Amino acid sequence: MAPALGAISPDPALLRGVEEELGQKIASCFHCSKCASGCPVAFAMDVQPNKVVRLVQMGLKDEVLRSASIWLCASCETCVTRCPNQVDIPAMMDVLRQMAIREKAPAADPAIPAFHAAFLSSVGKHGRVHDLGMLTTYKVKTRKRGDALKDAGLGWEMFKRGKLRILPSKARETKQIRKMLREIVDRI
Ligand code: SF4
Ligand code: SF4
Repeated sequence: MAPALGAISPDPALLRGVEEELGQKIASCFHCSKCASGCPVAFAMDVQPNKVVRLVQMGLKDEVLRSASIWLCASCETCVTRCPNQVDIPAMMDVLRQMAIREKAPAADPAIPAFHAAFLSSVGKHGRVHDLGMLTTYKVKTRKRGDALKDAGLGWEMFKRGKLRILPSKARETKQIRKMLREIVDRI
């Protein structure tokens, strides 16, 4: 349900802050919706990509930082290639994700940032993703959602086909990758 008008409190600094971090003006967006109509993830988003831009332009910080869309964006860049103004939506989504983490904004679906955290933790440990370890961490983090065994059948099928390793393998550059991830996290 849309919030009552009195409950909306725009933050006039939001657009400037996002544009500064992004290094690009997004005020040029004129809402043609070409980005949303080409986005492969739009069907799952609670706020369409062009509307995320609109929320930023309007300074509706809580609404944008709490949307699931900023976490669902797959950074595929389809929208950028379609945009007549070259608005870099995936980079803007990155800025918004960092802002959401910094400001501890409650996510619309906490399972999405939990998945991101489990993925990065696995890459930090092994230099690459260990699917089984990542999924175990993810399931533990989201255990209250009651779906711990939901994907067990699929996991078993993957294991039988040799697509799921029990033990992780380490990338040669694990230390450098870990250092790079730490530097990125420190910057947030
Ligand atoms: S395609 Fe570009 S100009 Fe059109 S709505 Fe999306 S971001 Fe705005
Ligand atoms: S980069 Fe994100 S918003 Fe843009 S088309 Fe891909 S998934 Fe959609």
